[in-house]
Amino acid sequence: MKEIGHWINGKLVKGTSGRMADVFNPATGEVQARVALASKAELDAAVADAARAQVAWGATNPQKRGRVMMEMVRLINRDMDKLAEALSTEHGKTFPDAKGDVQRGLEVIEYSIGAAQMLKGEFTDSAGPGIDMYSMRQPLGVAAGITPFNFPAMIPLWKMGPALSAGNAFILKPSERDPSVPLMLAALFQEAGLPDGVLQVINGDKEAVDAILDNETVQGIGFVGSTPIAHYIYSRGCAAGKRVQCFGGAKNHMIIMPDADLDQAADALVGAGYGAAGERCMAISVAVPVGEKTADELVKRLIPRIEKLKVGPWTGGNDVDYGPVVTAAAKANILRLVESGLASGAKLVVDGRGFKLQGYENGFFVGPHLFDHVTADMEIYQKEIFGPVLSVVRAKTYEDALKLAMDHEYGNGTAIFTRDGDTARDFAARINVGMIGINVPIPVPLAYHTFGGWKKSSFGDLNQHGPDAFRFYTRTKTITARWPSGIKEGSAFNFKAMD
Ligand code: NAD
Repeated sequence: MKEIGHWINGKLVKGTSGRMADVFNPATGEVQARVALASKAELDAAVADAARAQVAWGATNPQKRGRVMMEMVRLINRDMDKLAEALSTEHGKTFPDAKGDVQRGLEVIEYSIGAAQMLKGEFTDSAGPGIDMYSMRQPLGVAAGITPFNFPAMIPLWKMGPALSAGNAFILKPSERDPSVPLMLAALFQEAGLPDGVLQVINGDKEAVDAILDNETVQGIGFVGSTPIAHYIYSRGCAAGKRVQCFGGAKNHMIIMPDADLDQAADALVGAGYGAAGERCMAISVAVPVGEKTADELVKRLIPRIEKLKVGPWTGGNDVDYGPVVTAAAKANILRLVESGLASGAKLVVDGRGFKLQGYENGFFVGPHLFDHVTADMEIYQKEIFGPVLSVVRAKTYEDALKLAMDHEYGNGTAIFTRDGDTARDFAARINVGMIGINVPIPVPLAYHTFGGWKKSSFGDLNQHGPDAFRFYTRTKTITARWPSGIKEGSAFNFKAMD
């Protein structure tokens, strides 16, 4: 059985804790590898080495660090197919989707080439007599990232690019469910010229995460995953005096106005609801048509499109729309929630429960489901299902639809489909959600803007990638300098405005 260890000080090493977890092939249900789960001692030793390596890396000028990112872009492009294949094998998503996962991470590495520009400080000439004042952004030192299973290339790259190019050493604790791609990325960073020890990839579970939280050398933590864990890490990390940003779960609503192009809206909903088996934090899981006629027409268009979806393994050819979910436990949870929807009175108009795929009977495949007449009091509306299940909640008016989305505890992404500019503008201004699409179902901002939700989808005040990432992974130092020619006699004890 293949054993997956850690990347420490520029080498793949075996775990020493004696604890391991199974890594599945979700398409077949077979265990394809075992991954080491790091102990506190392993984590602490890796952090200590990272802190030593950071001193020289942090002192390297930013354009040289940017060149490492530039070379990393070339290497990721070179190995794109290899990375995507490893990703599909452990995660289950289709090959084009896996390439998209790598691509959207790569774009943040491209952005990180510009570290020198991002880290330029501020300068005030003659802030007082003979006085200059300037600010600089310095790396935190050792920062850490804790990432989820659903984007095993993209989210680690979102963290590593800005953190490393800003001069930090970085400890990545990826998801134990699909750990191979982050290790491959670490090897590519080494090939790109990153000094050994500056990036450590430590596989593990709660024990490794708690060790990160307890380690006093780790100055900042960027987390992405489910909301309960996001909240846990945010609370404990902040209490320990660390800088912490935690991105959590989602329940993304798409509002469909009566004037929308309903064929376009239906196509968008099928892609955004069922792509990657619904395992995206920006998936649309709630469709909110406004008016009974809009709802009837929309559902009529959705049903044949959903019934036509091809579910299969990533090796099944280009026409496979989505693959299996990540584990048997994830599948069981989705099917339990489907039963909960039925029990609470929602109407299951596309029933994927009996889905079977010949030759892949033990795989974690879930057929597509569509619920109509879902209401806000139902568990399937309130909880993040993270599977191929779309709920239609019918709203009487635009105001009802807006209120519904605003009252939900999550606020990651949302979309409105309409031809009316006034309505779209009103929606964007009033909705309490972080990322808004206007006739765009999955409005993931590009690398040079920032990514983050509101409400229980995010804890902390800075977003991922874009300028916020450089703010998060650096701290500001402000220097006031006066030279002897500017010092007047008798001013040593004054604390007054500079004139
Ligand atoms: P998860 O919360 O189970 O795991 C995320 C990370 O936390 C993993 O590295 C895991 O090892 C660690 N972890 C798990 N349990 C822990 C515990 N008890 N204590 C300490 N650490 C623990 O999330 P997941 O299932 O891997 O990912 C899916 C979730 O991530 C969904 O809720 C999805 O919406 C969310 N997500 C959010 C965003 C975003 O930007 N808001 C992006 C992607 C995914």
